[in-house]
Amino acid sequence: MAKKQAEFIWFNGNIMPWKEATVHVMTHAIHYGSSVFEGVRAYHTPHKGTCIFRMQEHTQRLLDSAKIYRMTIPYSADAINQATKDIIKKNQLKSAYIRPIAFYGDIGMGLQVPFGQETELVIAAFEWGAYLGEEGLKSGVDAGITSWNRLAANTMPTGAKAGGNYLSSQLISMEARRHGYQEGIALDINGYLSEGAGENLFIMRNGIISTPPRTAAILPGITRDTVITLLAEMGYQVREENIPREALYLADEILMCGTAAEVTPVKSVDGIKVGNGGRGPITEKVQDMFFGLFNGKTEDKWGWLTPVE
Ligand code: PMP
Repeated sequence: MAKKQAEFIWFNGNIMPWKEATVHVMTHAIHYGSSVFEGVRAYHTPHKGTCIFRMQEHTQRLLDSAKIYRMTIPYSADAINQATKDIIKKNQLKSAYIRPIAFYGDIGMGLQVPFGQETELVIAAFEWGAYLGEEGLKSGVDAGITSWNRLAANTMPTGAKAGGNYLSSQLISMEARRHGYQEGIALDINGYLSEGAGENLFIMRNGIISTPPRTAAILPGITRDTVITLLAEMGYQVREENIPREALYLADEILMCGTAAEVTPVKSVDGIKVGNGGRGPITEKVQDMFFGLFNGKTEDKWGWLTPVE
Protein backbone atom coordinates (compact mmCIF):
# COMPACT_ATOMS: atom_id res chain seq x y z
CA MET A 1 0.00 0.00 0.00
CA ALA A 2 1.20 3.49 -0.80
CA LYS A 3 2.82 5.16 2.19
CA LYS A 4 0.20 7.44 3.69
CA GLN A 5 1.17 11.05 3.05
CA ALA A 6 -2.16 12.70 3.76
CA GLU A 7 -5.54 11.69 5.15
CA PHE A 8 -7.57 11.91 1.97
CA ILE A 9 -7.37 11.54 -1.81
CA TRP A 10 -9.75 12.75 -4.50
CA PHE A 11 -10.60 9.80 -6.76
CA ASN A 12 -13.14 9.96 -9.60
CA GLY A 13 -15.21 12.65 -7.94
CA ASN A 14 -15.12 11.27 -4.40
CA ILE A 15 -12.90 12.22 -1.52
CA MET A 16 -11.83 9.04 0.23
CA PRO A 17 -9.29 7.90 2.84
CA TRP A 18 -5.75 7.54 1.45
CA LYS A 19 -5.69 3.77 2.02
CA GLU A 20 -8.92 3.19 0.10
CA ALA A 21 -7.70 4.94 -3.06
CA THR A 22 -6.42 1.79 -4.79
CA VAL A 23 -6.57 0.29 -8.29
CA HIS A 24 -6.66 -3.23 -9.75
CA VAL A 25 -3.41 -5.01 -10.68
CA MET A 26 -4.65 -5.19 -14.28
CA THR A 27 -4.79 -1.39 -14.51
CA HIS A 28 -3.77 -0.49 -18.09
CA ALA A 29 -1.48 2.32 -16.91
CA ILE A 30 0.62 -0.08 -14.82
CA HIS A 31 1.19 -2.33 -17.83
CA TYR A 32 1.66 0.30 -20.54
CA GLY A 33 2.45 3.61 -18.84
CA SER A 34 -0.83 5.06 -20.12
CA SER A 35 -1.20 7.96 -17.73
CA VAL A 36 -0.81 11.72 -17.92
CA PHE A 37 -0.15 13.74 -14.83
CA GLU A 38 0.91 17.02 -13.28
CA GLY A 39 3.00 18.21 -10.38
CA VAL A 40 1.67 21.41 -8.86
CA ARG A 41 2.58 23.28 -5.68
CA ALA A 42 0.53 25.30 -3.25
CA TYR A 43 2.31 27.74 -0.96
CA HIS A 44 1.32 29.29 2.32
CA THR A 45 1.46 33.03 1.77
CA PRO A 46 1.17 35.66 4.51
CA HIS A 47 -1.03 37.92 2.35
CA LYS A 48 -3.41 35.55 0.54
CA GLY A 49 -3.40 32.39 2.65
CA THR A 50 -2.75 29.10 0.88
CA CYS A 51 -2.36 29.68 -2.86
CA ILE A 52 -1.99 27.25 -5.75
CA PHE A 53 0.80 28.34 -8.10
CA ARG A 54 -0.16 28.60 -11.78
CA MET A 55 -3.08 26.23 -11.37
CA GLN A 56 -4.76 27.09 -14.69
CA GLU A 57 -1.57 26.41 -16.65
CA HIS A 58 -1.03 23.06 -14.95
CA THR A 59 -4.61 21.97 -15.56
CA GLN A 60 -4.33 23.06 -19.19
CA ARG A 61 -1.11 21.04 -19.59
CA LEU A 62 -2.85 17.99 -18.11
CA LEU A 63 -5.62 18.37 -20.69
CA ASP A 64 -3.05 18.98 -23.44
CA SER A 65 -1.11 15.83 -22.49
CA ALA A 66 -4.38 13.87 -22.61
CA LYS A 67 -5.24 15.38 -26.02
CA ILE A 68 -1.92 14.26 -27.49
CA TYR A 69 -2.71 10.69 -26.44
CA ARG A 70 -6.39 10.99 -27.49
CA MET A 71 -7.44 10.36 -23.90
CA THR A 72 -10.80 11.52 -22.60
CA ILE A 73 -10.65 12.93 -19.08
CA PRO A 74 -14.29 13.07 -17.98
CA TYR A 75 -13.87 16.34 -16.03
CA SER A 76 -13.65 19.94 -17.19
CA ALA A 77 -10.76 22.25 -16.29
CA ASP A 78 -13.06 24.03 -13.83
CA ALA A 79 -14.02 20.75 -12.16
CA ILE A 80 -10.35 19.73 -11.86
CA ASN A 81 -9.45 23.13 -10.40
CA GLN A 82 -12.26 22.92 -7.88
CA ALA A 83 -11.30 19.36 -6.92
CA THR A 84 -7.70 20.52 -6.39
CA LYS A 85 -8.86 23.20 -3.97
CA ASP A 86 -11.19 20.74 -2.25
CA ILE A 87 -8.53 18.13 -1.55
CA ILE A 88 -6.10 20.72 -0.15
CA LYS A 89 -8.83 21.98 2.16
CA LYS A 90 -9.97 18.49 3.14
CA ASN A 91 -6.40 17.58 4.12
CA GLN A 92 -6.05 20.91 5.96
CA LEU A 93 -2.79 21.62 4.16
CA LYS A 94 -1.14 25.03 4.37
CA SER A 95 1.33 24.16 1.63
CA ALA A 96 1.22 21.16 -0.63
CA TYR A 97 2.56 19.21 -3.56
CA ILE A 98 -0.40 18.28 -5.72
CA ARG A 99 -0.45 15.30 -8.04
CA PRO A 100 -3.36 15.09 -10.48
CA ILE A 101 -3.13 11.93 -12.59
CA ALA A 102 -5.44 10.65 -15.31
CA PHE A 103 -4.97 7.04 -16.40
CA TYR A 104 -6.63 4.09 -18.05
CA GLY A 105 -7.83 1.72 -15.38
CA ASP A 106 -8.79 -1.95 -15.62
CA ILE A 107 -10.08 -1.67 -19.19
CA GLY A 108 -8.78 -5.01 -20.40
CA MET A 109 -5.48 -6.10 -21.89
CA GLY A 110 -4.20 -4.97 -25.24
CA LEU A 111 -2.99 -1.72 -26.65
CA GLN A 112 -6.19 -0.95 -28.52
CA VAL A 113 -8.00 1.40 -26.21
CA PRO A 114 -11.69 1.53 -27.12
CA PHE A 115 -12.59 4.77 -28.88
CA GLY A 116 -13.87 7.33 -26.37
CA GLN A 117 -12.67 5.28 -23.38
CA GLU A 118 -12.65 7.57 -20.35
CA THR A 119 -9.76 7.79 -17.93
CA GLU A 120 -9.86 7.61 -14.18
CA LEU A 121 -8.78 10.78 -12.39
CA VAL A 122 -6.96 11.06 -9.08
CA ILE A 123 -5.86 14.21 -7.29
CA ALA A 124 -3.53 13.71 -4.35
CA ALA A 125 -2.20 16.56 -2.20
CA PHE A 126 0.35 16.22 0.56
CA GLU A 127 3.24 18.05 2.17
CA TRP A 128 6.54 17.86 0.32
CA GLY A 129 9.65 19.91 1.09
CA ALA A 130 12.48 20.98 -1.19
CA TYR A 131 12.96 18.18 -3.77
CA LEU A 132 16.73 18.64 -4.06
CA GLY A 133 17.09 19.59 -0.37
CA GLU A 134 17.03 22.88 1.54
CA GLU A 135 20.83 22.98 1.35
CA GLY A 136 20.63 22.55 -2.42
CA LEU A 137 18.44 25.64 -2.72
CA LYS A 138 21.12 27.72 -0.98
CA SER A 139 24.43 26.32 -2.07
CA GLY A 140 23.53 24.36 -5.18
CA VAL A 141 23.61 20.73 -6.26
CA ASP A 142 26.21 18.59 -7.99
CA ALA A 143 24.92 17.35 -11.33
CA GLY A 144 26.29 14.97 -13.92
CA ILE A 145 25.54 14.37 -17.58
CA THR A 146 24.17 10.89 -18.07
CA SER A 147 24.87 8.43 -20.85
CA TRP A 148 21.12 8.19 -21.57
CA ASN A 149 19.82 10.63 -24.17
CA ARG A 150 16.34 12.10 -23.96
CA LEU A 151 13.66 10.79 -26.29
CA ALA A 152 13.90 11.46 -29.99
CA ALA A 153 11.13 13.77 -31.21
CA ASN A 154 9.54 11.13 -33.40
CA THR A 155 9.54 8.41 -30.75
CA MET A 156 7.57 9.80 -27.81
CA PRO A 157 6.43 13.40 -27.35
CA THR A 158 8.38 14.99 -24.47
CA GLY A 159 5.89 17.87 -24.53
CA ALA A 160 3.31 15.53 -23.00
CA LYS A 161 3.74 14.84 -19.31
CA ALA A 162 2.97 11.14 -19.62
CA GLY A 163 3.74 8.33 -17.18
CA GLY A 164 5.79 6.34 -19.68
CA ASN A 165 8.22 9.23 -20.24
CA TYR A 166 9.38 8.91 -16.68
CA LEU A 167 11.22 5.67 -17.35
CA SER A 168 13.68 7.92 -19.20
CA SER A 169 13.81 10.29 -16.20
CA GLN A 170 14.39 7.36 -13.83
CA LEU A 171 17.34 6.10 -15.87
CA ILE A 172 18.81 9.60 -15.86
CA SER A 173 18.47 10.17 -12.12
CA MET A 174 19.53 6.62 -11.16
CA GLU A 175 22.73 6.87 -13.16
CA ALA A 176 23.46 10.31 -11.71
CA ARG A 177 23.00 9.09 -8.14
CA ARG A 178 25.12 6.02 -8.79
CA HIS A 179 27.92 8.41 -9.81
CA GLY A 180 27.44 10.47 -6.65
CA TYR A 181 25.53 13.39 -8.15
CA GLN A 182 22.27 14.75 -6.79
CA GLU A 183 20.70 15.11 -10.21
CA GLY A 184 21.28 14.01 -13.77
CA ILE A 185 21.33 16.16 -16.88
CA ALA A 186 20.51 14.63 -20.26
CA LEU A 187 21.48 15.58 -23.78
CA ASP A 188 19.10 15.11 -26.70
CA ILE A 189 19.85 12.64 -29.50
CA ASN A 190 21.76 15.36 -31.37
CA GLY A 191 24.08 15.88 -28.43
CA TYR A 192 22.64 19.22 -27.36
CA LEU A 193 21.63 20.02 -23.82
CA SER A 194 18.09 18.88 -23.05
CA GLU A 195 17.00 18.91 -19.40
CA GLY A 196 17.39 17.36 -15.98
CA ALA A 197 15.46 14.24 -14.94
CA GLY A 198 12.63 16.49 -13.77
CA GLU A 199 13.89 20.04 -14.30
CA ASN A 200 14.60 22.55 -17.04
CA LEU A 201 17.96 24.28 -17.20
CA PHE A 202 19.23 27.82 -17.64
CA ILE A 203 22.89 28.64 -18.17
CA MET A 204 24.52 32.03 -17.80
CA ARG A 205 27.80 33.37 -19.05
CA ASN A 206 28.91 36.98 -19.25
CA GLY A 207 25.36 38.13 -18.53
CA ILE A 208 23.90 36.10 -21.44
CA ILE A 209 21.25 33.62 -20.38
CA SER A 210 20.22 30.66 -22.48
CA THR A 211 17.89 27.69 -22.16
CA PRO A 212 17.29 24.74 -24.49
CA PRO A 213 14.43 25.24 -26.96
CA ARG A 214 11.25 23.14 -27.07
CA THR A 215 12.85 21.12 -29.88
CA ALA A 216 15.61 19.81 -27.57
CA ALA A 217 13.40 17.03 -26.15
CA ILE A 218 12.30 19.00 -23.11
CA LEU A 219 9.07 19.22 -21.22
CA PRO A 220 8.42 22.96 -21.58
CA GLY A 221 8.11 23.61 -17.87
CA ILE A 222 5.76 26.04 -16.23
CA THR A 223 8.59 27.03 -13.88
CA ARG A 224 10.78 27.56 -16.97
CA ASP A 225 8.18 30.00 -18.24
CA THR A 226 8.06 31.63 -14.79
CA VAL A 227 11.86 32.05 -14.75
CA ILE A 228 11.84 33.54 -18.28
CA THR A 229 9.14 36.00 -17.19
CA LEU A 230 10.92 36.97 -13.96
CA LEU A 231 14.23 37.42 -15.81
CA ALA A 232 12.48 39.69 -18.34
CA GLU A 233 11.15 41.67 -15.39
CA MET A 234 14.76 42.06 -14.23
CA GLY A 235 15.78 43.24 -17.72
CA TYR A 236 17.32 39.99 -19.01
CA GLN A 237 16.24 38.42 -22.25
CA VAL A 238 16.62 34.66 -22.37
CA ARG A 239 17.89 33.01 -25.54
CA GLU A 240 16.12 29.78 -26.39
CA GLU A 241 18.83 28.05 -28.37
CA ASN A 242 20.67 24.78 -28.81
CA ILE A 243 23.38 24.55 -26.18
CA PRO A 244 26.50 22.41 -26.61
CA ARG A 245 27.65 20.24 -23.70
CA GLU A 246 30.82 22.24 -23.08
CA ALA A 247 28.78 25.36 -22.33
CA LEU A 248 27.85 23.67 -19.05
CA TYR A 249 31.53 23.46 -18.11
CA LEU A 250 32.16 27.10 -18.99
CA ALA A 251 29.05 28.65 -17.43
CA ASP A 252 29.27 31.33 -14.75
CA GLU A 253 25.98 30.07 -13.32
CA ILE A 254 23.50 27.27 -13.98
CA LEU A 255 20.05 26.92 -12.50
CA MET A 256 17.60 24.05 -12.57
CA CYS A 257 13.91 24.66 -12.22
CA GLY A 258 10.71 22.72 -11.92
CA THR A 259 7.68 22.50 -9.70
CA ALA A 260 9.38 19.98 -7.39
CA ALA A 261 12.91 21.44 -7.59
CA GLU A 262 11.66 25.07 -7.59
CA VAL A 263 14.71 27.23 -8.49
CA THR A 264 17.92 25.41 -7.55
CA PRO A 265 21.50 26.42 -8.39
CA VAL A 266 23.85 23.83 -9.92
CA LYS A 267 27.30 24.05 -8.36
CA SER A 268 29.15 21.51 -10.47
CA VAL A 269 28.67 19.48 -13.63
CA ASP A 270 30.66 16.26 -14.08
CA GLY A 271 32.87 17.39 -11.22
CA ILE A 272 33.72 20.71 -12.92
CA LYS A 273 32.92 23.69 -10.74
CA VAL A 274 30.28 26.07 -12.14
CA GLY A 275 31.60 29.65 -11.79
CA ASN A 276 32.82 30.07 -8.24
CA GLY A 277 31.10 26.84 -7.19
CA GLY A 278 28.19 28.38 -5.34
CA ARG A 279 24.95 30.19 -6.05
CA GLY A 280 25.57 32.91 -8.62
CA PRO A 281 24.16 36.45 -8.43
CA ILE A 282 21.56 36.10 -11.22
CA THR A 283 20.33 32.81 -9.79
CA GLU A 284 20.02 34.40 -6.37
CA LYS A 285 17.99 37.28 -7.78
CA VAL A 286 15.66 34.90 -9.64
CA GLN A 287 15.24 32.81 -6.50
CA ASP A 288 14.42 35.91 -4.45
CA MET A 289 11.82 37.00 -6.98
CA PHE A 290 10.40 33.47 -7.26
CA PHE A 291 10.05 32.86 -3.53
CA GLY A 292 9.01 36.51 -3.18
CA LEU A 293 5.78 35.58 -4.96
CA PHE A 294 4.95 33.45 -1.93
CA ASN A 295 6.23 35.68 0.87
CA GLY A 296 4.57 38.73 -0.64
CA LYS A 297 7.76 40.58 -1.65
CA THR A 298 7.18 40.06 -5.37
CA GLU A 299 3.95 41.51 -6.68
CA ASP A 300 1.94 38.85 -8.53
CA LYS A 301 1.36 40.93 -11.67
CA TRP A 302 0.50 37.84 -13.66
CA GLY A 303 -2.31 36.39 -11.56
CA TRP A 304 -0.27 33.25 -10.89
CA LEU A 305 -1.56 32.71 -7.35
CA THR A 306 -4.97 31.15 -6.84
CA PRO A 307 -6.13 31.26 -3.21
CA VAL A 308 -7.62 27.98 -2.01
CA GLU A 309 -10.29 29.83 -0.04
N1 PMP B 1 11.13 18.46 -17.29
C1 PMP B 1 10.64 17.31 -16.80
C2 PMP B 1 11.03 16.03 -17.43
C3 PMP B 1 9.79 17.34 -15.69
O1 PMP B 1 9.30 16.21 -15.19
C4 PMP B 1 9.46 18.58 -15.10
C5 PMP B 1 8.58 18.62 -13.90
N2 PMP B 1 7.22 18.61 -14.24
C6 PMP B 1 9.99 19.75 -15.66
C7 PMP B 1 10.82 19.64 -16.76
C8 PMP B 1 9.63 21.09 -15.11
O2 PMP B 1 8.29 21.37 -15.39
P1 PMP B 1 7.40 22.30 -14.45
O3 PMP B 1 8.18 23.52 -14.21
O4 PMP B 1 6.18 22.54 -15.23
O5 PMP B 1 7.16 21.54 -13.20
